[in-house]
Amino acid sequence: MSQSLNSEALLGRLIAYDTTSTTSNLELIDFIRNYLEDYSVASQLVYSDDRSRANLYATIGPDDIGGIMLSGHTDVVPTAGQDWHSDPYQIKSDNNAFYGRGACDMKGFVACVLAGVPQMVETKLATPVHLAFSYDEETGCVGVKKLIEAMQGFEVKPKIGLIGEPTDMAMVLGHKGKAAFSVEVIGSSCHSAYITSGVNAVEYAADLIAFIRKMNNEVQQRQLVDDAYTVPHSTFHVGNISGGTALNIVPKQCQFEFEIRNLPQDHLDQLIHEIKHYAADVLLPDMRQRFEGSEIAFSPIASYPGLSTDSNSRVIAYTQSINPVNRFGDNVSFGTEAGLFDQHLGINSVVCGPGSIDQAHKPDEYVSRQQMQYCDQMIENLVKQCHKAFEFDDS
Ligand SMILES: [Zn+2]
Repeated sequence: MSQSLNSEALLGRLIAYDTTSTTSNLELIDFIRNYLEDYSVASQLVYSDDRSRANLYATIGPDDIGGIMLSGHTDVVPTAGQDWHSDPYQIKSDNNAFYGRGACDMKGFVACVLAGVPQMVETKLATPVHLAFSYDEETGCVGVKKLIEAMQGFEVKPKIGLIGEPTDMAMVLGHKGKAAFSVEVIGSSCHSAYITSGVNAVEYAADLIAFIRKMNNEVQQRQLVDDAYTVPHSTFHVGNISGGTALNIVPKQCQFEFEIRNLPQDHLDQLIHEIKHYAADVLLPDMRQRFEGSEIAFSPIASYPGLSTDSNSRVIAYTQSINPVNRFGDNVSFGTEAGLFDQHLGINSVVCGPGSIDQAHKPDEYVSRQQMQYCDQMIENLVKQCHKAFEFDDS
């Protein structure tokens, strides 16, 4: 067995693997797998389709009952174009903080969890601890969906989840959901002097975009408002558009991308349906009157559900009992895997981890020593709590 490593040493090891989203994370996963093996903890990997990336799942303690899941993503955002003052893939420490890509988002949390493994193994746990480390979170929670599919077949599933995204160790109970689409509008081209013989794809795309914009304005007025969010309502946004070739040609093609970021209380499916309904039942019949081959096609880019954890739920009581900071945070605008775990597996989840989202995705990303200490403390408290059998059921 290797000499046990503290969270600082482990953070250094994790940062040294460049696990930029969509590139392989297998070396880092191998490192974690071997590390766990040193403590006789078996883990299973759930791969991406091309097997270049993997999720890792492991259980420490009894395997016939559900326990607490500690979840983190292993991927990081790119450093390209960022002005770093040190090598982003080599940890730099000073008196206050640890610097490196992923320090706060979210290798700091993963390091603290791994540092707690020897203690988890030594302690006779009555409540199991499950480790869930994913890939490609930053590109829209892509990797964890494979893990969730696999977990749906597990006989024993975690009861509650702690998702260690950077919240300054505050307990966060809610975040918005998101759905992003690419839309392709196909009409038919002709000389612009004879526009009545063509179907102008750019203009129909503009109609659809105007409808999306109108929905954004309506939602502010008629839908729910939740002041726990900086932008207190669901939002709609079109981010890019391209189409047409020349001014004297009626364009036959136009493509744009839009996203919806919904309050968990707003039904995302319903909002998407309204947009698709307008395209299919209002715009398309009009286009097809002149050109039968007209088309409006929606391709999903990414989606994840929002999170809205009941403040009376067990996961809150549990997290409070182990969290040295014991502070609730505002709902956050960024998405996490918590909504997916909650919606697809019924794992009641809370977001709580070291470091601040203000430092995430930026040059000279860091996590403070104090935040890491708090997180180490939380894991230590968790092990003590899991020594006892925990009553998870709310009923
Ligand atoms: Zn993150």
